[in-house]
Amino acid sequence: MRAVVYRGYGVMPELAEVPEPGCPEDGVVLSVAATGVCRSDWHAWKGHEPVPLPHIPGHELAGVVARVGPAVTRWQPGDRVTVPFACGCGRCEYCRAGDAQVCPDQTQPGFTGPGSFAERVAIHAADTNLVALPDAVDSVMAASLGCRFATAYRALTGHARLRPGEWLAVHGCGGVGLSAVHIGVALGARVIAVDVAGPALARARDLGAEHAILSATNTDPAPDIHDVTRGGAHVSLDALGSAATLASSVRSLRRRGRHVQVGLLLGTGATPPVPMDLVIARELEIYGSHGMAARDYPPMLAQIADGTLRPGLLVGEVIGLEQAGAALAALDGPSSRAGMTVIELGRLTPAARARS
Ligand SMILES: [Zn+2]
Ligand SMILES: [Zn+2]
Repeated sequence: MRAVVYRGYGVMPELAEVPEPGCPEDGVVLSVAATGVCRSDWHAWKGHEPVPLPHIPGHELAGVVARVGPAVTRWQPGDRVTVPFACGCGRCEYCRAGDAQVCPDQTQPGFTGPGSFAERVAIHAADTNLVALPDAVDSVMAASLGCRFATAYRALTGHARLRPGEWLAVHGCGGVGLSAVHIGVALGARVIAVDVAGPALARARDLGAEHAILSATNTDPAPDIHDVTRGGAHVSLDALGSAATLASSVRSLRRRGRHVQVGLLLGTGATPPVPMDLVIARELEIYGSHGMAARDYPPMLAQIADGTLRPGLLVGEVIGLEQAGAALAALDGPSSRAGMTVIELGRLTPAARARS
């Protein structure tokens, strides 16, 4: 089969012919229909997170079940599915309780093993990790849910319990942050977007943010947020992941507010300090959010199918597998402001179209 492979960290990924994946006893092989290009793949490619080399990236995918292991009971060839980026083992106490996102033995396609920048990919523990796709959710849209949209959704609904009319502050308007802005607006919240870049804030406003705060690197947006909201945000998200945005997010909250840490704090070195004095005095709630387990996908997919949520608004370019390596390498620098790039397999590239 064809797959995008890199042979060393930082070495340009190439389209190559590789062996077919084996089908796990408890898993499936999926024919990949679409897969997202994510900054986490870029981090792995740069060597910030170790991966087995040579490596096939890709962890945000939609596809069709092609082969089924003998221990799988819930899935058959032909089923259209997506999977969370963190796949549970299916056996531990967390997986059995439906919380595969914190499974200690999780597998992550594109990190712990070969990923979805390929015609086919193996997924372990299929009965725990596969999510059926409604007809109304096409493969490009499903791949774009990836880690950013699903993570933002779960942070706001599962952890923060965001209610209509509440103030939501989103610190950092990259992929996860803009997803959170859109989801917050769709759920009836009043959204304040914070970023250091004007174009990111313009996108946030397009998506319905009521206020946009341009935050210089060394200034704290929390006082402005307290002014605008008359007392602070009910819910605040650090969607970037830095010591400064974490602290600003906590300081942005009104009494009894909920902070959710979504940004991964990669490369920040020591564990950043949290203003625990405020956590006590204002009775704040602090959550960490690590993706979303398969169990929690159906309500989100239903809201996409009925048009309440529109992840398509966050999709930028749709490309073929031939362009995937270059698209991954191009994620250098600040996260893409022009929307998420999605690879659609079987898509005719302009060159291929010209040939046909
Ligand atoms: Zn598990
Ligand atoms: Zn991702």
